[in-house]
Amino acid sequence: MELNTSYWEQTSFYQSDVVVIGAGIVGLNTAIALKKLQPTLKITIVERSSLPAGASTKNAGFACFGSLSEMIEQEKNLGTDAWLNLVEKRWLGLQKLISIVGKPQLDYQAFGGYEIFKSEEKDFFESCVAQLSRFNTLLAPIFKQPVFNLAPDKITAFGLKDIPFLIENKLEAQLHPGKMMQSLMQIAGSLGIHYLTNCNVSHWEKTNTGFHIFSNLDILSTNKIAVCTNAFSSKWFPELDIKPGRGQVLITSEISNLKLKGTFHYDQGYYYFRNVGNRVLIGGGRHLDFKAEQTTKFGETPLVQAHLRSLLKNHIIPEVPFKIDKSWSGIMAFGETLNPLIIEYQENLFVALRCNGMGIAIGSQTGADLAQIIYQKT
Ligand SMILES: Cc1cc2nc3c(=O)[nH]c(=O)nc-3n(C[C@H](O)[C@H](O)[C@H](O)COP(=O)(O)OP(=O)(O)OC[C@H]3O[C@@H](n4cnc5c(N)ncnc54)[C@H](O)[C@@H]3O)c2cc1C
Repeated sequence: MELNTSYWEQTSFYQSDVVVIGAGIVGLNTAIALKKLQPTLKITIVERSSLPAGASTKNAGFACFGSLSEMIEQEKNLGTDAWLNLVEKRWLGLQKLISIVGKPQLDYQAFGGYEIFKSEEKDFFESCVAQLSRFNTLLAPIFKQPVFNLAPDKITAFGLKDIPFLIENKLEAQLHPGKMMQSLMQIAGSLGIHYLTNCNVSHWEKTNTGFHIFSNLDILSTNKIAVCTNAFSSKWFPELDIKPGRGQVLITSEISNLKLKGTFHYDQGYYYFRNVGNRVLIGGGRHLDFKAEQTTKFGETPLVQAHLRSLLKNHIIPEVPFKIDKSWSGIMAFGETLNPLIIEYQENLFVALRCNGMGIAIGSQTGADLAQIIYQKT
């Protein structure tokens, strides 16, 4: 198709000091933080779709920083100091997101979070409980209050069936990812950051002064590039440790007198569910077929969908009839290490990738960290 770009368009829309590729939570925060550091910079965010189309608008909206069983595992793998550092990053990252967007705009609800265990997981539950006070002590310098406690009464209060054990985390909350992203886009716009949608970048080439970026639209000229395309980046950086992971999610119709309230983790975080008003959202099940779910293709599979529905029917809302109103998927990026990759990859080419399924907690800080690196080079 003839693009018919005018000289005017070419010297305005298609010319920038910095182009951020990818308008997820990381890309938007990179652009926002950089513009705040240097307001004179001309920054353009390019996004392949009409709305951000990766993980940031598809996720479950848990404002969380790890369940007890996940923390026990992570401390074992990373060592105490590195693990504490990671938890602190997640917690401070959440506070950063709240300070940028605001709790009402995020639809932030501090209902608490819960890790649940079935009866056959009694030994596992007890091994977690045995570590509970040690972990509260380790976490005290960050949270200044106990994070985990037992709350057996809530099992019946929430209407859960055949779930005899539960560990509460009062500091966990939930938010609305769509509203979060809408607000971030509005903040970016109000700062004068440009936004080019339906711009699918294929590659870039170095020029004397910077780069030419090639896409389905015309060529963009820029001095610097920030690549924030998360799981979709491997084609450009095959040697980097970035593995895609698809997450499937579904949401029920409204349920009258729904008892469930809060964010819930099951099976070391491989399943998660929450209330969304009077509905229940459930997601996860990647571990049922890691190979099939290691993909950048959106989609749902009968295997995962059946497990999600069975959990709903048999344990989460066993007493009420429900319909599934909607199901969808999103694509995350994982690596061997739990920290995101934030580097200058080549001169004037920067990347912030791989939030390891925790982008709500660490996405804002990841963007801010990348902005700082770029700012130091301007
Ligand atoms: C189902 C699911 C549930 C989740 N639940 C939670 C949760 O409860 N709590 C939590 O903290 N995290 C959760 N996450 C993880 C979180 O959503 C991610 O870590 C985070 O959104 C990653 O943000 P990002 O900006 O790095 O990537 P993305 O949001 O994927 O953004 C990358 C953007 O780049 C664009 N792009 C890709 N290729 C190109 C190209 N060639 N040209 C132009 N643009 C391009 C994409 O369209 C996309 O918009 C979940 C993820 C999923 C999928």
